[in-house]
Amino acid sequence: MTPAVSTVAEPYMAAANAAAASFAALEARLDYLGAADIELVRKAYRFADAAHLGQMRGNGEPYITHPIAVAAQCAEWKLDVQALMAALLHDTLEDCGVTKSGLLEQFGLQVAELVDGLTKLDKLQFDTREENQAESFRKMLLAMARDVRVILIKLADRTHNMRTMGDMPRGKWGRISTETLEIYAPIAHRLGLNQTYRELQDLAFRHLKPWRYAVLTKAVSRARQRRRDLIQKVQQQVQAALDDAGLQARIIGREKTLYSIYRKMNDKRLSFAQVNDLYGMRVILPDTIGCYTALGLLHQLYKPVPGHFKDYIAIPKINGYQSLHTTLAGPAGANIEFQIRTESMDLVAEAGVAAHWLYKVNKTGGQADAELGTQWLQSLLDIQHETRDAAEFWEHIRVDLAPDAVYVFTPKGQIMALPRGATTVDFAYAIHSNVGDHAIAAKVNGEQVPLRTELHNGDVVEIVTAAVSSPNPAWLGFVRTGRARSRIRHHLKNLAQDESRELGEKLLAQALRAEGLGQPPGKEPSDHSIWDKLVRFTGSRSRDDMLSHIGLGKRSASMVAKRMVTLLAAEGIKPDALLLTRERYTAHENLSQGAVILDGADNVSVKFATCCRPIPGDDVVGYLGRGEGLVVHVEDCSVARRLQHKDAERFVTVAWADEPVRAFEAGIVVTVTNGKGVLARVASAIAGAEADIVYLNMTEGGAQDALDLRFILTVRDRAHLDAVLRALRRTHSVLRAVRALPAA
Ligand code: MN
Repeated sequence: MTPAVSTVAEPYMAAANAAAASFAALEARLDYLGAADIELVRKAYRFADAAHLGQMRGNGEPYITHPIAVAAQCAEWKLDVQALMAALLHDTLEDCGVTKSGLLEQFGLQVAELVDGLTKLDKLQFDTREENQAESFRKMLLAMARDVRVILIKLADRTHNMRTMGDMPRGKWGRISTETLEIYAPIAHRLGLNQTYRELQDLAFRHLKPWRYAVLTKAVSRARQRRRDLIQKVQQQVQAALDDAGLQARIIGREKTLYSIYRKMNDKRLSFAQVNDLYGMRVILPDTIGCYTALGLLHQLYKPVPGHFKDYIAIPKINGYQSLHTTLAGPAGANIEFQIRTESMDLVAEAGVAAHWLYKVNKTGGQADAELGTQWLQSLLDIQHETRDAAEFWEHIRVDLAPDAVYVFTPKGQIMALPRGATTVDFAYAIHSNVGDHAIAAKVNGEQVPLRTELHNGDVVEIVTAAVSSPNPAWLGFVRTGRARSRIRHHLKNLAQDESRELGEKLLAQALRAEGLGQPPGKEPSDHSIWDKLVRFTGSRSRDDMLSHIGLGKRSASMVAKRMVTLLAAEGIKPDALLLTRERYTAHENLSQGAVILDGADNVSVKFATCCRPIPGDDVVGYLGRGEGLVVHVEDCSVARRLQHKDAERFVTVAWADEPVRAFEAGIVVTVTNGKGVLARVASAIAGAEADIVYLNMTEGGAQDALDLRFILTVRDRAHLDAVLRALRRTHSVLRAVRALPAA
């Protein structure tokens, strides 16, 4: 939509000066409030005045002139008493030693929250040149403001700061003006505050490009002098033509803002003389048919400029904007741009998201365009008072302005948009998959936090990585983004494949020893053909694929080993008879060289059976489940026995490492006579024996008053478990304490 104004005059400097004076200047604008409310505003003024005592603005005036000016702007918008109080207090929290709870005590929760919200927005600084960052930043601001009044006061604050920018060091002009142009002016526009929007744009332009601004100002005013009569004439002719046709039309003259002229010259590389659509008119009609009729009449009246006609009624812009655009060659070679649309289309164009709601109100009232901004704001505030509707309405606007996202910063000030509920891990993966894969810790706003920490709007997030670190399966429990989820899954899948391949290699070596081969064929060229034949024999895609199938139990290691022996024999390599004998005789020796060593390190392809829960010191066997890897059982576990009976092929030799790297879980059953404090005594006996309780379940025991307590404990090994059981048997009221094993 083309930004437009009715004049480029500067009414704002006068307002700024008036506000600078004192509370009297503000009070004069409060006639819409009751006496009690004015007294509250005065109280806030006294408090702010005391808090800012001794502070000066850049121009040497007392600091309090700034909050007064901000409040005066809010009063112009007819904001409510709490908003005015918050406007006066808006700079007290940061550097005046005032606390939020102090404000709460003095002025109540609402005012304290408004000031707190403003202080948070103040801390944000937009300092990146990337264009799509600006949109995210705007959305973040809106999302952070839980109350629309926060945004309105912030806009008033920014407006006054821009008006008094001349008092600020020149070094700050660029950043603040850019921020105003890219962030605050569009927000004002979006909220329907069109005058503020234009003022912010012009002030920012003036301070960003002072020289160009001056030149352009002169050029525009000269052009306006020359064209004034002409424009009036055109407007009269158009009005007459539409009246004759019986169309009820409202015509509004428009003039481009300096900034939009500058932008056009800049974007299209035009000189001022080449910008020939300085003037525009808007024609508002009752209905769509009227719009097209008016267009036809205008094209008869003046010659249309080719290539300038656009039908946004038939094909609306993405943001819902609808209008007919055409440029006509007026008298004396002046081009005039026309926008033709209905009242409701005009409302959408001017008030954006609020239009649908506004239109309902406007239909009955029919106020003039100029009043709409203030009127809308007031209605918005009225609605905010009626709590339920208020929350809903602002929520509705915010959903539209800032969708379901949180906006956070990288340490370098880049903005990232993440879905609501996203954690530091999601952030890490959004930066780069390598950052996610190696994340070990996170800092939010400079403080160390757990990786599962949920992020909030405006957080500055830093990820600490370590090359050796890798994704933790537990992350899947809290990540929100599909990207993080799929990367973690991908990593785990690779990990499982690596581990099952390693296990497969061990199992194959073990099976080969049982066939009398001390060493599987290695990497010699002559060995390749053996492996290739085995891969074909097993129908695998590759050697790794074959080995991981063995590790997962999808393929029998001994079958592959037997085939290999056959293949080797064909090449004249015979099994070692001596080794063969020794292996056969030591098959039950735990430390047989071919055994899979259990060290308890986290390994997805080795699991410990939950029926018997083996611990170091137990005699164990390994069952290679179909597709589930190796499951370790206690040797005389009844479940394992049954499996051995029908599936002996799938059992492999396993052995405990000398020093397992972690504690193991074991099940015990403790039978007690029920009574006061029994459970506490049992638990303290377990703790006294240095075992941890992982799980407890209670059932009625066989005898009367007897209770079976089933525990899962973590213990170091068999000796440790025996010590725990002995300690329990010595405990008062314990009738029996035994290890839990599946029934035979
Ligand atoms: Mn301020």
